[in-house]
Amino acid sequence: MKLLEDRIREDGRVLGEDVLKVDNFLNHQVDPKLMAQLGEEFARLFRDEKIDKVLTVESSGIAPAVFTALDLDVPMVFARKKQSLTLSAENYTADVFSFTKQETNHIIVDKRFINEGERVLLIDDFLANGQAVQGMMEIVDAAGAELVGVGIVIEKTFQKGRQLLDEAGLHVESLARISAFNDGQVEFAD
Ligand code: 5GP
Repeated sequence: MKLLEDRIREDGRVLGEDVLKVDNFLNHQVDPKLMAQLGEEFARLFRDEKIDKVLTVESSGIAPAVFTALDLDVPMVFARKKQSLTLSAENYTADVFSFTKQETNHIIVDKRFINEGERVLLIDDFLANGQAVQGMMEIVDAAGAELVGVGIVIEKTFQKGRQLLDEAGLHVESLARISAFNDGQVEFAD
């Protein structure tokens, strides 16, 4: 998606070997107009999959996921990373090793919000090694729901996540695909 690639070129900062900082439009400050356009594009790419629900992980997946759900006219659910008094005792959980924080998060979804037989679309901000998506896959599986697609805002093709998802036979769509960081510059896959 050219619009997103242009924005990454303009505002993205490369940290070290393999991390992109995009905190002025996605990961801290959020550009709602851009998020709405990303949501529209995900909805267009997945409309034929007859999605019942969009699932993401807090916090950076929420903005693109909510606009996708708005366009598909379905609810959006986000997995929580912390237990809360407001969460019921009936949960699906999975462990996710965070690439950027280098710690394991326990992600949690209330059983009421993912139901057997539902067609679920996963959305996330980044795809690196695929741990976040795998955690969400476990939850969809445990609920007896069907995973019908994975939408990623920014994929780094040089990490192993995409291969993992392709091997699982999933319909994956990434709006920007980064093939390398070279001297602090972002290179996109064609
Ligand atoms: P994975 O689980 O695929 O290894 O990593 C995906 C998760 O790690 C995303 O949800 C995102 O929060 C974070 N992440 C991975 N790579 C990057 C990156 O280059 N930049 C930022 N800002 N977050 C990343």
